Amino acid sequence: MVRVYNFSAGPAMLPLEVLERAKDELLDWAGTGMSVMEHSHRGKAYVERAAAVEASLREVMGVPDNYKCLFLQGGAYGEFAALPLNLSAAGQSIDFINTGDWSTKAIAEAKKYAVPNVIASTKEGGFTDVPDADSFTVNPDSAYLHYTPNETIRGVEFDYIPDSKGLPLIADFSSTILSRPINVTDFDVIFAGAQKNMGPSGLVTVIVKDDLLGKARVECPSVWDYTQQAAADSMLNTPNTFGWYLLGLVLDWVKDNGGLEGMGQRNKAKADVLYDYIDGSGYWTNPVAKRARSWMNIPFLQPNAELDKQFVSEAAKAGLTNLAGHRSVGGMRASIYNAVPLEGVQALVEFMKEFAQKNG
Ligand code: PMP
Repeated sequence: MVRVYNFSAGPAMLPLEVLERAKDELLDWAGTGMSVMEHSHRGKAYVERAAAVEASLREVMGVPDNYKCLFLQGGAYGEFAALPLNLSAAGQSIDFINTGDWSTKAIAEAKKYAVPNVIASTKEGGFTDVPDADSFTVNPDSAYLHYTPNETIRGVEFDYIPDSKGLPLIADFSSTILSRPINVTDFDVIFAGAQKNMGPSGLVTVIVKDDLLGKARVECPSVWDYTQQAAADSMLNTPNTFGWYLLGLVLDWVKDNGGLEGMGQRNKAKADVLYDYIDGSGYWTNPVAKRARSWMNIPFLQPNAELDKQFVSEAAKAGLTNLAGHRSVGGMRASIYNAVPLEGVQALVEFMKEFAQKNG
């Protein structure tokens, strides 16, 4: 078996231990003589496991009792619609901080249901920084403030939590959840597509504070209605049973590897290795302001962009895959989520050194 280092932005690399455990359990899960995928979501075995996975998420992230954890479908993109439908009234404004492509998409989606109010944007600078913490004013009449702690495409990450001045604070944690400790009570809704740090695609986790429930509009699809889904333990309809199960295996792996403290140390070390090399290389550059550099998604450019394709294909031959930048921005990008080991980042740096020597 040859496993590559997969630098994909998502669906992304999963821990080998998780995949091996899933493989071991695939045909006969928990001694039931069938795969977890073949179990009814209403059956005792599955319901118990689903509850255990939720308990595990609560333990790992420190989710207090006055928050619900929902396991839904429709991805984080679906949440861009579900949020206004659950939390705003028609015609009400919603504050946004726009730091990149995913914030932009969330704003466009919210516009179908409410009135987005962009209180800060780094678009003019090409989305290479976060706004200063004191540079924006929230509208007290808005339903909530939405922001993206980590913008996956351009690798821009907040180094502070925006002060929402009492508005509910909604955070799109898709590409940074489980990457380090956070204080859940700093947020009112945390949501994340699973396919980066949590498991396979097709599952989206929404952690929502109780006092935001009960506000969904009548036209909100029931499967996205947080109140209905909370009352049904996320099983109003058939959930992504396999994704939910696999999240449990990933959480066990996180616990075995030092919890979120462990993840944070590991991820900081990995990011330091790559940024230090890029900055000192005299060949590669990262366009993001130092304070806003992501630990998870690291874009890098070379002097002659015509060599990008060659780099990406030679790297793939060397077992370093999915290094092309997002199709909208070009260049290269290494996504180094939890499951990418330090050795993978070191191997990438070695490869980048050789490439720079040959082409510099
Ligand atoms: N938000 C962010 C920050 C993302 O990175 C992504 C996906 N890459 C999305 C939202 C959309 O997620 P999904 O594909 O799960 O709908």
